[in-house]
Amino acid sequence: MTFSGKTVLITGASRGIGAATAQHLASLGANVVLTARSADALEQIAAQIGSQAKAISCDVSDYDQVKSVVDLTLAHFGSIDILVNNAGLLAPVHRLAEFTPKDWDQIIDVNVKGVFYMMHAALPIMIEQGGGTIINISSGAAYGVLEGWSHYCASKAAVLQLTRSGHEEYGAQGITCLGLSPGTVATEMQVLIKASGVNPVSQLEVADHIPATDVAQAVAYLCGPAGTKYLGEDFHLKSPESRAAIGLPKR
Ligand code: NDP
Repeated sequence: MTFSGKTVLITGASRGIGAATAQHLASLGANVVLTARSADALEQIAAQIGSQAKAISCDVSDYDQVKSVVDLTLAHFGSIDILVNNAGLLAPVHRLAEFTPKDWDQIIDVNVKGVFYMMHAALPIMIEQGGGTIINISSGAAYGVLEGWSHYCASKAAVLQLTRSGHEEYGAQGITCLGLSPGTVATEMQVLIKASGVNPVSQLEVADHIPATDVAQAVAYLCGPAGTKYLGEDFHLKSPESRAAIGLPKR
């Protein structure tokens, strides 16, 4: 599949899944806008990609910054064809009553409100263009609970509902809205999970996780015709059938 002429806006692109996705989609011909808070890291990745990449720093929990990134993307590349809502946090890990309200707020602000803000700002542009694709990065935590992760599980369940709402409300206007649950991925997030020592996910080894490049390939796959099979739902990359459909090796 070629992404030539398409513009992709990716949140959380300063490292991990977001950076790998930006690099992969750019290699397939897309213009990519990388956003996250770490301006230096973004600039470095964008420079490696070349002139088809633009770095714009933004905290997704701040609506004005989100609106500005969306407007700058449109001004720079002329369209927003694909939005990948990937920015997310998990740490710190505590049992419910041991969280500070501020810690809990931060996860909801980034993981939930950040996704809503991006959808809110990008949807009118996509509708005006006659269509677009929104991929929200989900998690198994949207479906099950794990000790110490009340904030993260609640946030990812909310993201799934935003995916469902996006399809329900805008599917008829040409918006392809779906989620991608990657399984566990070898990124900084898993380093922090391991350090917490809480719940079975922290006991996994690096070799148990898939590389971020697998998720990037899944994003590219879902931007094509296959994505229409998962409208308003999550695509689960962990399943052997999903990996085979993308052409990823068995695990
Ligand atoms: P990383 O910690 O490697 O990357 C997280 C990204 O989110 C960084 O680019 C970070 O950039 C960005 N980010 C965090 N807070 C903000 C903010 N306030 N505003 C803008 N950007 C922000 O994690 P992953 O790559 O693993 O995670 C990406 C997504 O995948 C997340 O949504 C996560 O929940 C999901 N996921 C990950 C799994 C895994 O096993 N790794 C499993 C299932 C889902 P910066 O700090 O520069 O702002």
